Amino acid sequence: MSILVVGTVAFDAIETPFGKTGKIIGGAATYICLSSSFFGNKINLVSIVGEDFPEETIKMLKDKKVDTKGLQIQKGEKTFFWSGKYHQDMNTRDTLETQLNVLEKFNPIVPEEFRESEFLMLGNLMPSVQKQVLDQMKKRPKLIVLDTMNFWMDNFMEELKLALKDVDVLTINDEEARQLSEEYSLVKAAKKILKMGPKNVIIKKGEHGALLFDKEQMFFAPALPIEEVFDPTGAGDSFAGGFIGYLEKTNDISFENMKRALIYGSITASFCVEKFGTQKLEEITPEDLESRKEEFISLVSVEL
Ligand code: AMP
Repeated sequence: MSILVVGTVAFDAIETPFGKTGKIIGGAATYICLSSSFFGNKINLVSIVGEDFPEETIKMLKDKKVDTKGLQIQKGEKTFFWSGKYHQDMNTRDTLETQLNVLEKFNPIVPEEFRESEFLMLGNLMPSVQKQVLDQMKKRPKLIVLDTMNFWMDNFMEELKLALKDVDVLTINDEEARQLSEEYSLVKAAKKILKMGPKNVIIKKGEHGALLFDKEQMFFAPALPIEEVFDPTGAGDSFAGGFIGYLEKTNDISFENMKRALIYGSITASFCVEKFGTQKLEEITPEDLESRKEEFISLVSVEL
């Protein structure tokens, strides 16, 4: 079994109340691949970078069992670049700059041997590109998860709504859920979004955890309170990677198992924020995940 991941592989520049980075490695797909790699899955990446992207990062991904056959390297062009600045609360941020570069004319090509991947993670990207990937699959994957953000809602809402018709799980943050549904209450927002196509919606609330909905039920997973939060960039993508990684490993997409996957998503996200960029995710092992699982259990267990 395998997971097909599509999304940005990028350069980021990040400013938080604790410091500022120069150009570092980022991108939604990078975070997703790293965080789902802990579950021992085969991960198939489809993305694009420019000639300026470092060889050693591609090697690092390969070492984590990510198949990079679908990563296009565009000669003479520049990699997607994003820069953002976090507010004092570290939960909200402003985008300072988005340079689409290679993404401007990205035509995703899913390699033949990736086209039967059972799990599909459509990471944050142009909705039309997400749809193009979906349309190249030989048969409908067992589970399709789509992540998006306000940038695409502001500029490509109709395309996004079209892509949503075909997906199983949508992951978005609370602000984006309100923007998409035009509802303030997250319960009402989820109900409205579920009518747009997805069978499940996950609303990420940063350090306040995440909510999982289907038409009948809802479940809440807290975020692990972390002593040192350095950089929340990629937390949402690491969450999505942990979520789909666990579902693929267990091959069970029931609501009950999605609850467990939500906890694993919270675990991978909790590591992501502890260092700038992808650094922490590159360092940890599956054993680290298991010991953090115990912390989660004691955080929420009580006898009443
Ligand atoms: P997150 O913090 O989970 O929302 O993800 C942050 C990552 O998303 C960064 O590493 C960026 O490179 C990437 N990113 C930022 N803006 C966009 C965009 N408009 N489309 C796709 N990826 C983006």
